[in-house]
Amino acid sequence: MTRFNFDLQTGETGPLTKAPRPDMVNLPLSGQTPLLGVDDQVLNGTKVSTADNDFDGDMHAPLSGRIREITPHAMRIEVTGDDKAPASAPCTGKGDELRQWLRDRGVNTRNLYPAQTLIINAVPPEPGISIFEPLLRDYRKTLEIGLDLVKRIVEPSKLFQVVAKGNKANAFANCTVTHVTPVYPNGLDPLVIKTVTGREIIPGSRPDDISILSVKDLYLIGRAAETGRPLTETVMTIGDSNQLVVVGTPVGFLTAESGASVQPGDRVVIGGPLRGLAAVNLEQGVDKDASGLHILRRSESAAVTDNPCLGCGQCERHCPARIMPGMISRCAEFKQFRRAEAFHIHSCMECGLCAYWCKAQRPLLQYIRLAKYELALLADADKEPRTETDATDGES
Ligand code: SF4
Ligand code: SF4
Repeated sequence: MTRFNFDLQTGETGPLTKAPRPDMVNLPLSGQTPLLGVDDQVLNGTKVSTADNDFDGDMHAPLSGRIREITPHAMRIEVTGDDKAPASAPCTGKGDELRQWLRDRGVNTRNLYPAQTLIINAVPPEPGISIFEPLLRDYRKTLEIGLDLVKRIVEPSKLFQVVAKGNKANAFANCTVTHVTPVYPNGLDPLVIKTVTGREIIPGSRPDDISILSVKDLYLIGRAAETGRPLTETVMTIGDSNQLVVVGTPVGFLTAESGASVQPGDRVVIGGPLRGLAAVNLEQGVDKDASGLHILRRSESAAVTDNPCLGCGQCERHCPARIMPGMISRCAEFKQFRRAEAFHIHSCMECGLCAYWCKAQRPLLQYIRLAKYELALLADADKEPRTETDATDGES
């Protein structure tokens, strides 16, 4: 099994480069409702789907071409060129008006709400992801434009920038720089919030008085404001380089362009090696949140097993949330999802350390994500009015 280097110091990074343009893009449609149909023509910037919730941004075609296929998971567009839809006028408003303007242009606005404290997270989220350095160094103006927009929504009275010790800070004006030890998982939002405020939050929750955004968030918001164009690119670490990648670019195309070959049994992971998600196939397109691409070689990764828990406690010793991943995994394994709440599953920040250290090589992170997914379904079902024929809630 590969011993990861948990160090978050990134050292010198080269400039951001533009990834080659693919001939086909597969736009992920999770949480989106398509607005167009098969055979429709699109321009770069045409809105193709709208988000199903109030936070996520809508989706736009990243290049011009024709829609060839729509499945529940993705919209496939055959690329014929880069003709652009007209740019829109900048938004001079603030608050909800500006928030809606950004959402309409594809920006995830989940963390854009009024809050007393605004935290800019500049700590790499995982080892091997170094996108923040070139952005902080070479795209200062874009970041400042992004920060200006964010301030018009959040209206903070305190601004913090959190960086890993040893990495370049390039601090923003009127902000307090806070350093954290450059070791994973110190860059995850709940731990960064704890460093700044001393408070522990439930991961994924929105504390009333704290808003946290990453340097990449600022960059993407800044680009939308600078260009008046929707968000159709993401920034990713691929191999040793940081690249601007068109959303929907197939992972197989990116690995081939980087000179890597994917062998049977290897996994292409979107994100970092500890928290990332394995692509289901090489055609899968990257989404706007993708920050890295890694090939996990078959020979380097531990085989996932259905071994029983040994009760060794290694997972608990390494859990930054101080919960019991082994017990939660057992609840998930035997479909006792509600029992997992008694073991504080919602405090899990999905760092993946428990799975890394598990002596029995149990797929702990997958069990935890499965249980969270099932609990969300149960919570939705609880909100539905029940009929007389409803006998059970689907859980033993
Ligand atoms: S993924 Fe595992 S180690 Fe990380 S917070 Fe969750 S339970 Fe703890
Ligand atoms: S590390 Fe694995 S085997 Fe050990 S207690 Fe945790 S889940 Fe069980």
